[in-house]
Amino acid sequence: MSETKSAAKALKEKLFMDPKNAALRMEEAEVTKAFAFCDPYKGFLDASKTEREAVVTGVKLLEGKGYRPFDPATKYNAGDKVYAVNRGKSLIAAVLGTESIENGVRIAAAHIDSPRLDLKPRPVYEDAELALFKTHYYGGIKKYQWTAIPLALHGVIVDRNDRVIEVTVGEAENDPVFCVTDLLPHLAGDQMKRTLAEGVKGEELNVLIGSLPFKDDEISEKVKLNLLNILFEKYGVTEADFLSAELEVVPAFRAKDIGFDRSMVGAYGHDDRVCAYTSLQAILETENPKKTSVLVLADKEEIGSDGNTGLKSAFLRYFIADLAKPYGVEGRTVLSRSECLSADVNAAFDPTFPEVAERKNTAYLNYGVVITKYTGARGKSGTSDASAEFAGKIRNLLDRAGVIWQTGELGKVDQGGGGTVAAYIANLNVDVIDLGVPVLSMHAPFEVVSKIDVYMAYRAFYEFFIA
Ligand code: MN
Ligand code: MN
Repeated sequence: MSETKSAAKALKEKLFMDPKNAALRMEEAEVTKAFAFCDPYKGFLDASKTEREAVVTGVKLLEGKGYRPFDPATKYNAGDKVYAVNRGKSLIAAVLGTESIENGVRIAAAHIDSPRLDLKPRPVYEDAELALFKTHYYGGIKKYQWTAIPLALHGVIVDRNDRVIEVTVGEAENDPVFCVTDLLPHLAGDQMKRTLAEGVKGEELNVLIGSLPFKDDEISEKVKLNLLNILFEKYGVTEADFLSAELEVVPAFRAKDIGFDRSMVGAYGHDDRVCAYTSLQAILETENPKKTSVLVLADKEEIGSDGNTGLKSAFLRYFIADLAKPYGVEGRTVLSRSECLSADVNAAFDPTFPEVAERKNTAYLNYGVVITKYTGARGKSGTSDASAEFAGKIRNLLDRAGVIWQTGELGKVDQGGGGTVAAYIANLNVDVIDLGVPVLSMHAPFEVVSKIDVYMAYRAFYEFFIA
């Protein structure tokens, strides 16, 4: 009887897919490594709250490893390392492989923009002797989450003399911060009857920036005047300069460990800087790969990847063409033989909201890097859906390297949906699959990831580059 049982048990082990918490499958030393890997990641997040800052941080790290600005006229040799920056907001890095570029390249593509509040072109106003900024939110947010939390202001202003002025307020220990105010519960009876989506409306996301009037008896809008005067003294800017500005309001808090066991990281912008950081670290560690390794850090993913810094632009396509040209190879030939990990996050199962997920096909915290074969919505609309062949190749690659992975789907069928840059890269005739880190509270000002999953994502990108 017991023998039959163990035979059945062995058969079950052979035939069933039996995902386990990665922490139970890893050596203690590797868990320690995973935790240590996330310490500099927290620093990266704090230094890179906008796409521009992520590019600056990325370039610094690349240059430290011998990467140099890409020159399309140069015929590079195996092992050479280059990078190209697009308008300060997206970045491509490549390390030349020992194999001919004609055989294709290996691409990891993450995005470095995150949901936030952008200032309107004419943001400053005064109401009831308070000064405020009007904002237009960027990306998919639950608006109520952005009230009553400390906010910082990051970005650039171009003034009447074409001077580019960098602005960062709210990050240094003694900096002031800003906030969007919300109604006290005592008077929120009507507001509480609104739906959650309408609880705080777009035009109610006004950022409080000052309250002191300019001392003068004659003029009106004294608080606005005082505020603009402070900005003029500090930055030399006037109200008209806000039109030629990109100012982003982001959470002012720093990345922190979460939990008594410190097993998770809470921060603004894990989506998708967690994949940007892990794929960046992977390429930084990649020396003399067989296939040329290419890292893309894109902008504008959260609003559909349009625009000249988004992945629908020609930046990647032309970079590949320029890289291949000195060898007499067409860019399209390279792309048609290339492979890509679309490095983006997926939703992690949240026990507080189990009803949106289908438990067998959702990703879980600590179960490793998540492979997402397709995204999309309503019957896979808007996804590239990776082929069985490419999914098999990646899965076997990770298994052979001992990288712990899981599968994920973005919620139940017809529950909602979403997309990544995968489809746009697939449209270039490249084999693509989504691979990234599961996230709790995605798109909230404070998102949560597991340190083990972050580390497994890094290992996945590295194994892909060196394969
Ligand atoms: Mn994303
Ligand atoms: Mn997103």
